[in-house]
Amino acid sequence: MNEQGILIVISGFSGAGKGTLMKSLLAKYDNYALSISATTRRPRLGEMEGREYFFKTREEFEQMIASDELIEYASYVENYYGTPKGYVKDKLKQGKDVILEIEIQGALKVKEKYPDALLLFVTPPNAAELKKRLTDRGTEDCKDIECRMLRAVEEAEGIEKYDFLVVNDKLEDCVHNLHEIIQSAHFQVFRNMEFTKNIKRELKDFSKGEK
Ligand code: 5GP
Repeated sequence: MNEQGILIVISGFSGAGKGTLMKSLLAKYDNYALSISATTRRPRLGEMEGREYFFKTREEFEQMIASDELIEYASYVENYYGTPKGYVKDKLKQGKDVILEIEIQGALKVKEKYPDALLLFVTPPNAAELKKRLTDRGTEDCKDIECRMLRAVEEAEGIEKYDFLVVNDKLEDCVHNLHEIIQSAHFQVFRNMEFTKNIKRELKDFSKGEK
């Protein structure tokens, strides 16, 4: 079956729990590689350079854009976020399923460049829960929470462009569902064209031999 990993894009409103989901998915299954993005936003308490993000100045980020080092980038609540190319390409070649946890503008750019990418959208069960999660997280001030809630309204308009919708109500169920969806994608016929070509040829050879 297919040996190249799948490029997976996971988006969802800020506060939907994507970070926790990714940690749990990676801890439970070993075939995933999570791409680490570059950003101009300041590190939150507890975030480490090269673990959550590569933290850049605007000048450094613009230099990365100019030298074509990013698969995609987007502007989100006044900061740049982008996906460096090298890691993603290496891991896909090694057969890992590579996850990009990115917002919608970037997700759609990835789909344009890589039509085989699998796009998943994660959402909390309802809007009140989203507001609660953003507030409980305590990492953003009120203005930023309002910005993120407004951004969620815009992002919701793009949900239909994704391949799958996953509700993050209970963490364990959501992780299980994400994993099942990704594993099923490995069996999609278009991802297995080499196998298909080979079995067709073998069958023809057999039928010729039996004549
Ligand atoms: P946060 O500031 O909460 O870490 O991230 C804000 C938003 O930026 C989230 O929706 C996150 O998925 C998105 N994001 C993180 N990295 C990237 C990236 O490399 N590219 C794009 N387009 N979005 C990203």
